[in-house]
Amino acid sequence: MPLDTHALVAARAASLNAALADAPSETILDTALRNAAVGDVAMVSSFGAESVVLLHLLSQLAPDTPVLFLETGMLFPETLAYQREVAEKLGLTRVKVICPDPTDLFLHDPEGDLHGRDPDTCCAIRKAKPLELALQPFDGWITGRKRHQTGDRVAMQVFEVEAGKLRINPLAGWTPRDMADHMARHDLPRHPLVAQGFASLGCAPCTTRVAPGEDPRAGRWRGREKTECGIHFAGGRVWPAGKV
Ligand code: SF4
Repeated sequence: MPLDTHALVAARAASLNAALADAPSETILDTALRNAAVGDVAMVSSFGAESVVLLHLLSQLAPDTPVLFLETGMLFPETLAYQREVAEKLGLTRVKVICPDPTDLFLHDPEGDLHGRDPDTCCAIRKAKPLELALQPFDGWITGRKRHQTGDRVAMQVFEVEAGKLRINPLAGWTPRDMADHMARHDLPRHPLVAQGFASLGCAPCTTRVAPGEDPRAGRWRGREKTECGIHFAGGRVWPAGKV
């Protein structure tokens, strides 16, 4: 990406943060969807344990916004069913299911066991690369990331620059209590595995239950240092292009 393009997007993010860093999530989302300075955006959702909150806010403002859902081929069947249930209940009309490139799977993960041998490359071909390709037509994307989730996210800004695009985090300042209150107030459907002890949901081979009081993301890649799938790496490159 040319440096001047990066500088332009960074200046745009700084300006939006100066104006909206402490604004209500609805205002941030409305700006993301309608402000010409932001451009065309999609929402990226895992339809995981807390995704329904941001999807609900979106449904109130613009239910025809593109929602990109990464179907890695390794998700729990319950997540696939929940995705359909939530989209229907909230009236989201443009959910797009994004899948890995079959050639990448054939070349790098023919047995479906790459997650155990090289989870970074597995995430690259099943998540990061398909997402980067799906985001090509857009100027930015909206996520449900929150500062409380991991140490990496504690200083997260509402408007960021990632891979030359704006990444917008309307729920950056929300706490677990805020999320629970919103779901209860609006009687939103919960992911069925939450009641079985899964506080954060990703691919089935890389997700375990958490004990009461444990960090909700402790069940993701348990026993490994890995804490992010690679979609959210900082540094301007979304997936390790040299590897896949
Ligand atoms: S979360 Fe696990 S199974 Fe899913 S893409 Fe990453 S390494 Fe592969």
